[in-house]
Amino acid sequence: MKINHLPVDDRTNGWSAILPPRSANPALAEDVNADFVVVGAGYAGLAAARRLAENRPDQKIILVDGGEAGENASGRNSGFAIDLPHNVGGDHDELDGSRRFMDLARMAIDYNEALVQKHDIQCDWGRRGKYHTAVTPRGAFECLQPFAKELEALGEPFRWVEGDDLQNEIGSPWFSAAVYTPGCVLMNPAALCRGLADTMPDNVTLFENTPVTSVDYVNGISLDTPGGSIRAPKMILTVNGLAGQFGFYNNRLLTMAAHASLSRQLTSDERAALGGVDDWGITPANAFVSITMRLTRDHRILIRQNIHYAPNRDCTDADRARIRQDHQRMFLKRFPMLPNVTMEHTWTGYLCFSRNGSPGFGQVAPNVWSAVCQNAVGVTKGTASGLLAADQATNVENPLNSHMESLGVPDLLPPQPFLGIGVRARLLWENWANRHEH
Ligand SMILES: Cc1cc2nc3c(=O)[nH]c(=O)nc-3n(C[C@H](O)[C@H](O)[C@H](O)COP(=O)(O)OP(=O)(O)OC[C@H]3O[C@@H](n4cnc5c(N)ncnc54)[C@H](O)[C@@H]3O)c2cc1C
Repeated sequence: MKINHLPVDDRTNGWSAILPPRSANPALAEDVNADFVVVGAGYAGLAAARRLAENRPDQKIILVDGGEAGENASGRNSGFAIDLPHNVGGDHDELDGSRRFMDLARMAIDYNEALVQKHDIQCDWGRRGKYHTAVTPRGAFECLQPFAKELEALGEPFRWVEGDDLQNEIGSPWFSAAVYTPGCVLMNPAALCRGLADTMPDNVTLFENTPVTSVDYVNGISLDTPGGSIRAPKMILTVNGLAGQFGFYNNRLLTMAAHASLSRQLTSDERAALGGVDDWGITPANAFVSITMRLTRDHRILIRQNIHYAPNRDCTDADRARIRQDHQRMFLKRFPMLPNVTMEHTWTGYLCFSRNGSPGFGQVAPNVWSAVCQNAVGVTKGTASGLLAADQATNVENPLNSHMESLGVPDLLPPQPFLGIGVRARLLWENWANRHEH
């Protein structure tokens, strides 16, 4: 089966642009055999390859990626490892689902935190928590109050912060209220991905800049790449929204583009003018409409806004130039005390969603497992699903597998053109219905 749609690095990722240069692992340049092959080195593939190596220390694992570690969606996100669902839901079943999500997410955070500590990965990893914010009292009433009630029902700690108190913590006067929860980790996602890729166990070989161009499932797995072929009896597929190219989840995965900008570093005077604490993160009441923001440890401000349907993954420099202007305008409204601070990097990343929010997880063929479709919470869900797919592929019992399986499978999507029309209409409606939160 030929792979028609390959990942492309547009070289716009701001998180890696602010890091020192890194030498990628060599591309595959000969024919190789292994016991397992993992395709895709995002959070899911990095966790899958490492876990296979832990479970089978005497076997050979190949991890292969079309690009470089930290340059995919995993290295381009907003850098929140989120331990709570955004919207909990109040009934018994929803609370149970939230508890399962929290178990999976916290396992993933603990797993990566142990690696950050063991290998001294310099990625500004910190359990800083996050503020779930509303711009207007209406947003606080409709979104934050139910969220706070649900956290109470779950027995989860939180703080309600509003008005001047909130401004004193984050500097910006823009928000009316926030629910602060302490369990979220903030970090530089490109630095974390690089660090995880560069500290793989000895029995994992990572080939970067090695796109898989065709796949054959007869007598095990055969993958072709421009420099040589890979043969293995078993594969874990961690290519997120491109899983359809490998013959799985066709017409079940939605690709969306998300955009983020990082400002230049604030001067010490600007940092003083902003006020508030260091190193905070804000998620918005409505993730599609409103803005995710961070103040990083090196005093840059991140703005993540603008999600749109992008089935062809074809955002252009012109799109990014327009989006940067939007981000700059939003920045100035939220930080009137920083009139001269400009956006230095603006980038695109491609996200994978399913209609019903379910992941593409588990065994999908006799010798193939998948961990794809993280529905925009890939730092924790991607890590958890990659790790658990590796446990399944090596017959290791893990009680969290049933949590993952309880999340269901991605529903079929309507055919085109109804799908495109439907997704765009839904985004327009979300924007209109939540315009008070812009
Ligand atoms: C702007 C933005 C902000 C976000 N913010 C957050 C956040 O704060 N917190 C959070 O949890 N999530 C966030 N997300 C979502 C998160 O980044 C993703 O859910 C997550 O990175 C998906 O991880 P993954 O490993 O499944 O896939 P990916 O990171 O997409 O990795 C898939 C890999 O497969 C490789 N691949 C694909 N096809 C082939 C092929 N044919 N041959 C070889 N390799 C191939 C690709 O090169 C890629 O490296 C955000 C995303 C974006 C874009």
